[in-house]
Amino acid sequence: MAKGAHLIDSPWDVATKDCAFFLDFDGTLADIAPQPDLVKVDPELVQILQQLQKACDGALAIISGRAIATIDHYLQPLKAATAGIHGAEFRFADGTLERAPVSQQDLARAKQLAQEFAGKHQGVLFEDKEISFSLHFRQAPQFEGQVEAFMTELVPARLSSYELQRGKKVIEAKPQGCNKGEAIRRFMAQPPFRGKQPVYAGDDVTDEDAFGVVNALRGLSVKIGEGETQAQLRLQSPAALQSWLQSLLVSGAPPAPSRITTVQGESVHE
Ligand SMILES: [Mg+2]
Repeated sequence: MAKGAHLIDSPWDVATKDCAFFLDFDGTLADIAPQPDLVKVDPELVQILQQLQKACDGALAIISGRAIATIDHYLQPLKAATAGIHGAEFRFADGTLERAPVSQQDLARAKQLAQEFAGKHQGVLFEDKEISFSLHFRQAPQFEGQVEAFMTELVPARLSSYELQRGKKVIEAKPQGCNKGEAIRRFMAQPPFRGKQPVYAGDDVTDEDAFGVVNALRGLSVKIGEGETQAQLRLQSPAALQSWLQSLLVSGAPPAPSRITTVQGESVHE
């Protein structure tokens, strides 16, 4: 069994139509790209998600650090319920939109400072996500310490209602109290999610909150790729998740967790 992943004891006897699917985007549905705007989405994946959305009566949501508009762009023509910016913005299944309140003046000033910092450190990328922003150092790992120090000083000094979120080679400033676990709780309180069994897939430390919530709700948590996790299952890559989601459409039910093992990089259903 992969390090950090554990199996649940309770029997899993839930049909796909009775599941609520919550899916992270980067590193989960799509491979991580050298730059965030270079990510590629397999057109077949979009078709699978559309079919899955239908199969579970619309109880499918994307839970991402990206803005909702960006998720829509990559997954078009799919329009799923979505929590963007780690849950700082929501689109519910009925299309209702909601955003965390922010001080636009403080945010604009902090963004300007972060952009200036990126301009002075070659390879560090500034990403503007409207109500949040990030500094990426995937192409300049030597600046990790400086990015960390800069962002730690910037937030909360300049943005008192914000907090930092660390991800893979990225640090983001986002409204306080928004995380993927809370996003799932909010969706699960509303139709068409309410009463269904949550299934969550994610690849990063930002997904651990979501794994915790899904485990507490006796759902199924799936870690994509390597790393310590409290998820119950592990699949090796976005491609492996895509095949797994496709298999749910055929079989009509997620396989019981106790019969899934991770073997030499492949997830095997016994
Ligand atoms: Mg991710």
